Amino acid sequence: MGSVATEPATLIVLVSTRAVLTKPDDTLVLSPATIAVSPDTGKIVSIVPEILPRSFFSSSTTYVDHGSKLLLPGLVDAHVHLNEPGRTEWEGFNTGTKAAASGGVTTVVDMPLNAIPPTTTLAGFQEKLKAAQGQCWVDVGFYGGVIPGNADELIPLVEAGVRGFKGFLIESGVDEFPAVSSSDIELAMQKLKDTPTTLMFHAEMIPPITDSVGDDVLHSEPPLAPKGELTSYSTFLESRPPSFETYAIEEIISLAHTAPNLHLHIVHLSAIQAIPMLKAARASGVNITAETCFHYLGLASDNIPDGDTRHKCCPPIREMTNQDGLWEELSAEDSCIKTVVSDHSPCTPELKLLPEHIQNGHESHDEAYCSCSDSDSESEFARPQIKHSDSGIDVRPQASERLNPFKTAPPAVEGQGDFFAAWGGISSVGLGLPILHTTALERGRAGEKVPDILDIVRLTSQATAKQVGLSHRKGGLKVGLDGDVCVFDDAEEWTLKSGDMRWKNKCSPWEGKRFIGRVRETWVRGQKVFEYGQGQRGFVCGKPVGLPITEKRTV
Ligand SMILES: [Zn+2]
Ligand SMILES: [Zn+2]
Repeated sequence: MGSVATEPATLIVLVSTRAVLTKPDDTLVLSPATIAVSPDTGKIVSIVPEILPRSFFSSSTTYVDHGSKLLLPGLVDAHVHLNEPGRTEWEGFNTGTKAAASGGVTTVVDMPLNAIPPTTTLAGFQEKLKAAQGQCWVDVGFYGGVIPGNADELIPLVEAGVRGFKGFLIESGVDEFPAVSSSDIELAMQKLKDTPTTLMFHAEMIPPITDSVGDDVLHSEPPLAPKGELTSYSTFLESRPPSFETYAIEEIISLAHTAPNLHLHIVHLSAIQAIPMLKAARASGVNITAETCFHYLGLASDNIPDGDTRHKCCPPIREMTNQDGLWEELSAEDSCIKTVVSDHSPCTPELKLLPEHIQNGHESHDEAYCSCSDSDSESEFARPQIKHSDSGIDVRPQASERLNPFKTAPPAVEGQGDFFAAWGGISSVGLGLPILHTTALERGRAGEKVPDILDIVRLTSQATAKQVGLSHRKGGLKVGLDGDVCVFDDAEEWTLKSGDMRWKNKCSPWEGKRFIGRVRETWVRGQKVFEYGQGQRGFVCGKPVGLPITEKRTV
């Protein structure tokens, strides 16, 4: 204890009767705690599993007593799309990391696609790092991409510090990030087989069937010929059956023997039919894991209204019975689902093709059109000036309509509510903790076995940090790690309104959802970045304090 008092006077001390601490053997424990962070290094220098009073410390110490609010390690969201540079009108480092910070996420890992250039070359990575400069409110790691023909870029990207790689087995939705074939995967596995990294896959693949009309699937063209109304969610769901996921995962597992030491990972697992295959592969020694997403655990196709394209993502949100299976696996012994992430993947509202009945009485949509409605820095970014070739449909309102969105209903637009034409992707970075906490509470009340707060920390922070080789810095409240702390009031009830969304385009299927549990503060390396209700829409540190993470991965 004595060592605490002899630290420099400017020490930062956070106190609570309930903190989730990481023990030396990496198990998690709920305990009272006094956590001291060095202002010089931003590292946790001491954790005492009891409440030390303010008087224990010198008068100049920053001492914050959080009562019984939970102190958790900042979340590590290992799957977000920040889309900058190149599609900065969809999202950006500034707004995306603000949204993260507002929800207790202290590290995000950016996906290689949807920015232009994509992170498939060293030069592309350098451009992305340049774009990120001075804009990040939380720490940001980066993935590289595997596409046909870029095998020689993979090791240089590892050397430059990418945390892993993602490849698509199906059309990605953007031209500059084409899908890989089996031989491309084998080549990537050869290049990476003895490298401490993670090779990840968007595991959807079209099985050899007769009525496929092509695989241009995240927009415009359905992979399976639609067999019903394009505005009906069930038509979309039927066009991407579980067999797309199982077929792709089978393919990946069949290649795994060529790189037995390489960590393979399935991003955004949706279909529970893939779980037995993954478990069997793991049991036979294949180094493969999976993640699922907040939306697969908290939303179900049974409840998606016609035309509500805010719910479109790929692979799709499936039936409640599928959701049940995902929760069951999360609670299983040695689950193959090791992590839960957001897959935050926004676009402009016009690419979502929301129908009028959802736009009307849906303030977020109007706000998204009206850049003057938000005093925050989002207005730094101009709305898109060019037609989006991705959608092929220009549905932006005229300037006059944009200035007064409440005056008249938006004009009818071709494709509104069309699940096949709308961009696929869900915005939710920073909502993960309330989503998981609320849904687990509800399921628990119904008598089901659900993850507790320790499990939630493991799934969203400890294991995600491990997945990207950052366990030595992130993902725990433990001496020596970064002082990244999420202060969570697990009793506060609130309803998500558009004003609560800090990402750029205020469009999300979570709007209007009632949550139990709210993030009150977020600290990044000992600096308080966010405090709900304070500062500039909660941002209390004046300027972005997040840093790009480019250290070479060693584990
Ligand atoms: Zn994907
Ligand atoms: Zn994604």
